Amino acid sequence: MAKVKTEKLFAVIGLGRFGTSVAKTLFRMGYEVLAIDSSEERINEIADFVTHAVQADAKDEEVLKKLGIRNFDTVIVAIGSDVQANILVTVILKDMGVRHVVAKAQNDLHGKVLTKVGADRVVYPERDMGVRVAHALVTSTVMDYLELSPVHSLVEIRCPDRFVGQTIGAADLRARYGITVIAVRKGDEVLASPGADTMIEKGDILVAVGSNDDLNRFEGDAV
Ligand code: ADP
Repeated sequence: MAKVKTEKLFAVIGLGRFGTSVAKTLFRMGYEVLAIDSSEERINEIADFVTHAVQADAKDEEVLKKLGIRNFDTVIVAIGSDVQANILVTVILKDMGVRHVVAKAQNDLHGKVLTKVGADRVVYPERDMGVRVAHALVTSTVMDYLELSPVHSLVEIRCPDRFVGQTIGAADLRARYGITVIAVRKGDEVLASPGADTMIEKGDILVAVGSNDDLNRFEGDAV
């Protein structure tokens, strides 16, 4: 079993695909995770992969009180298709004084409502994953993609062959393309904040930040 880091307690409510993935990943990272779902089947499925798994309707404030939900540092509301339950549970958690509530939204309007009722963070897993996959599909070089603002992104990009054998300084990506390389992945090793003298080798993955236009230009040249 993973080492337990007791300083951060997480609870995940709603064990669909997203909630299950969040709960299992946090537990694997060594955090204590309480998983809650109204379905007995879902609870049985996850029981071996989290600290505690409890069958309960999260709309029931008394049950949440008994579970000591206020003592959790972060509670993730991962209820999906039942939008009403998702919003209600978020309201109840904030009312009860849970410090950090992360709620999953189905769309922008749902997200706005969640923010209005006090969610500290709203996530859009389906939309974000769709954007990431689309970016990874249209070029063979982009491996992952994170939107930082409507006009800026962070990408993981397979370094084009013509830069192999050059240092980061000589490749001069900032002047030529306006992008900044913040890390280089060489196999399993990650070089964070690489210096200008870092040599680019075949197979290296660059983690770069820039405006979407500049990154597109670089991606285009990279194919
Ligand atoms: P996903 O789209 O991530 O797969 P789903 O909507 O399929 O999400 O799953 C949501 C989960 O939330 C289901 O397992 C469902 O049993 C659970 N759920 C829905 N309402 C409640 C509730 N009031 N209390 C606890 N769990 C709930």
